[in-house]
Amino acid sequence: MKNIVFIILLIIIIFLAVENFHKNKEIDNLHANISKKEQQTEIEATFQDDKESKKDYENDIKFEKKLTDWKLTLVNYENELPDNYNLELANIDNSRQFDKRAIYELNEMLKALKENGINNIWVQSAYRSIEYQNNLFNEKVNTYKKQGKTQEEAERLTLQTINKPGTSEHNLGLAVDFNYVDYSFEKSKGFKWLEENAENYGFILRYRKDKEEITKVDYEPWHWRYVGKEYAKEINELDMCLEEYIDYLNNNLYN
Ligand SMILES: [Zn+2]
Repeated sequence: MKNIVFIILLIIIIFLAVENFHKNKEIDNLHANISKKEQQTEIEATFQDDKESKKDYENDIKFEKKLTDWKLTLVNYENELPDNYNLELANIDNSRQFDKRAIYELNEMLKALKENGINNIWVQSAYRSIEYQNNLFNEKVNTYKKQGKTQEEAERLTLQTINKPGTSEHNLGLAVDFNYVDYSFEKSKGFKWLEENAENYGFILRYRKDKEEITKVDYEPWHWRYVGKEYAKEINELDMCLEEYIDYLNNNLYN
């Protein structure tokens, strides 16, 4: 009798053990499935990240390319051209020169002005060498020094009328001044035409009245800067000056 009870108990124990084993196996399978799914989601997420970073990367390249484009070279009180900056020049006429890479568009613009009946317009000043600007600058400083000023004072006074060498866009060979280089130009037909059409030839009004605080240069209706058609249009559309546009490109980079 004792034996029978023992055997029955043993059968029950074995039965429960087998049952338990199956249950565990099911749970294991379930776990395996869940972790498989998790892995899948993780891979998908990584893929998603990759897509994003690929887009970011392409974007960075686009903005980096723009920022290093010679057409957008920024020259101002904070950004000096190096002394040894050299460029290939081409003649506008027998006394004036412009960057060789942009002279075609400058000539096309001048031609279009004439074709539109605007004849009383001419390029007064274009490229100026840093050396020329240096001589001009030093001459003026020496004049002040002869009057008894210290070097520091003489330089400060000189800077009121002459740009520090290397800080003028004319040193870059990508800027032109029209006519008498004075405010009467604003009233001319040529100025009106340029306001509407210069961007089609890659030129922008560089020192706008409403951007004086940013450019730190007084409004100059006569001074036009070549940046290329694509940028000229974008800069005007964004209603920015060159400093703002370059900031805008920098802010978009690595963002
Ligand atoms: Zn100028």
